[in-house]
Amino acid sequence: MTAARPTLVLVYQRSALPWIFEGAARAGIDLVLVPRPDEDVPADRLPPAVVELLPLDPEGDPEGALAALRKRHEERPFQGIVTLFDPLVPFVAEAAERLGLPGIGRDTALGAQDKRVMRERLTAAGLNVPRFARIDGPDPEPGLAAADALTFPVVVKPAHGFSSLGVTRADSPAALRTTVTEVRAVCAAKLGVRDAALVVEEYLDGPEFAVESLAYQGRVRVLSIGYKGEPEGPYFEESVYRAPAALPADVRDAVVREVTAAHAALGITDGPTHTELRLRGGTRPYLLEMGARIGGSGVSAYVASHVSGVDLAAEALRLAVGGAPSDPAAEGLAEPVGAAANYIVPCGGHGRISAVHGLAEVAADPRVDHLIQMLFPGDVVRPYPDFTGYPAFVISRHDSTPEAEAFHAELERAVRIEYATEYTAESAHAAGHDEAEEARA
Ligand code: ADP
Repeated sequence: MTAARPTLVLVYQRSALPWIFEGAARAGIDLVLVPRPDEDVPADRLPPAVVELLPLDPEGDPEGALAALRKRHEERPFQGIVTLFDPLVPFVAEAAERLGLPGIGRDTALGAQDKRVMRERLTAAGLNVPRFARIDGPDPEPGLAAADALTFPVVVKPAHGFSSLGVTRADSPAALRTTVTEVRAVCAAKLGVRDAALVVEEYLDGPEFAVESLAYQGRVRVLSIGYKGEPEGPYFEESVYRAPAALPADVRDAVVREVTAAHAALGITDGPTHTELRLRGGTRPYLLEMGARIGGSGVSAYVASHVSGVDLAAEALRLAVGGAPSDPAAEGLAEPVGAAANYIVPCGGHGRISAVHGLAEVAADPRVDHLIQMLFPGDVVRPYPDFTGYPAFVISRHDSTPEAEAFHAELERAVRIEYATEYTAESAHAAGHDEAEEARA
């Protein structure tokens, strides 16, 4: 008897971001796609490997979504369920647990998704953690009092945040109070959460790195360590991602040790992870977060595969349906075989976009594999602390990291967003509020 192709439910993957769909095709896995609520996926133009659309509302009605998944599973069993969308990692872990499918389990998912729990678990394991305070409940005062004892500057962030939403630096206890109010307002407007739980932690001075790993039965294989720039705030925009990062061997080994130990501390024994960390003082790794998922909506799979030669998307999806990776005994840092990069086009201002210069030339560049444009002329970029999104990703492949660096220097000169002049910060704010109002209605 030949084994049937495994089926995997993939929750909230944007169809324009191809890496995971293509990875599934390479792994011989059929996908049932739960589309994002803001995306209309035409049934006659499904992404690669997708055999079915299953519209669900796991954010608005998790119980209903779980019931629908159970029904689908009873009628036609699937072998796994995954997401790359951080806020839904706990939902997916719960669905897998209830249906008896492979997964990290609810408790582990909580530790990887809730920044308060993550900080506590890393501290308990003796890892490098900045001093922090939690702000829980409607009255921020007890948390603020604890935060006053930290060394400033500090960073305020939503416990359940993602994509840097609301993450803000505060330089003094007085500024912290305003910042907490501001971050909670962003959470209310963007996430529909009142009195959002926050973490206040000491600012980590030093360059930032992203680490892509794959765990199997407790062994951690680090596929790539990439440079993420050194954003200083007060608001933290993504800017570049270039891997492999040029690091002295002892610092690189310290990163691999810290990341491996964090998997154990958080109980992530199987599956892909995306870690962000800073090198405090340029040498000592402190985790910012570890996601129990492939990072960057799949960009991490692209980067990891070009840097390590390991097909992270296909490998991770195989694990998600209960299979084994191609090299089950592998652990430690993979030897780099190439370089990959993502240039995140900066907004460079706010207002109504009148033109995006330079992208057509970039798309034709042989080094560029993907140009993902998200903002177009006519779109409104609202000023911080509101966050509209990134204009475009330029995703490229190189023989070495210095070549990626030189390419990014070219892009800095070539790509520019132009804004219509009649737009002011006040009118952009007003436009933002109108849209938020509409979204709530
Ligand atoms: P999110 O999950 O919303 O992306 P992060 O914790 O990763 O939240 O923070 C987003 C960004 O904010 C980080 O990539 C980093 O640049 C910055 N940041 C967060 N915490 C700190 C900190 N303690 N020190 C310095 N920068 C920080």
